[in-house]
Amino acid sequence: MTTAEKQALKEKIEKLLQETEIKVKEYEELCRPISPENAIGRVSRMDAINNKSVAEAALRTAKRKVEKLNTALSKLEEPDFGTCSSCKRPINPKRVMLMPESTRCVRCASR
Ligand SMILES: [Zn+2]
Repeated sequence: MTTAEKQALKEKIEKLLQETEIKVKEYEELCRPISPENAIGRVSRMDAINNKSVAEAALRTAKRKVEKLNTALSKLEEPDFGTCSSCKRPINPKRVMLMPESTRCVRCASR
């Protein structure tokens, strides 16, 4: 990877981090406990519980992504950045740009 490519990638990761952190806050909002007075009827309460578990799953995913993006950012200057953690071959730069949080190449990730 060239210095210019790394700079572009760094900016991309920082942008993704910002977006994902906003999502984390939104999901945290949705994950707040449902108070009984907000439950209009049994059906809407069931709906709320259902949405809550969806939001909780999304929150976990978003938090994991923040961690991975931070890891990618801290490893950007390491010589093995962009190398697959499984097969040690270079990851397709297009994939790195698209999913900087990924530490494995397409082949290893789909196994
Ligand atoms: Zn691989």
